[in-house]
Amino acid sequence: MFLRSSRRHGGGPGPAKGEEEPRQQGQEGGIIQKETPIYACKVMTVCPKCNKPTRPAHKVEDGKKVRVCKHCGAEV
Ligand SMILES: [Zn+2]
Repeated sequence: MFLRSSRRHGGGPGPAKGEEEPRQQGQEGGIIQKETPIYACKVMTVCPKCNKPTRPAHKVEDGKKVRVCKHCGAEV
């Protein structure tokens, strides 16, 4: 019995890991969906390019005011 159970244990991580993966992916998705409202509450703009919360710098381009990310300079 012990030998059998230890053999099973050796093969265990494979199937066990397979069961966990979908759960972990689901959790990650939930976390990502939670973060956006949190940033919105703080009135922080999250740069879509570098994905960092940033206080956008204001720049005038062709007479238009644009907000640009301080980190990477992308328009936000
Ligand atoms: Zn950026």
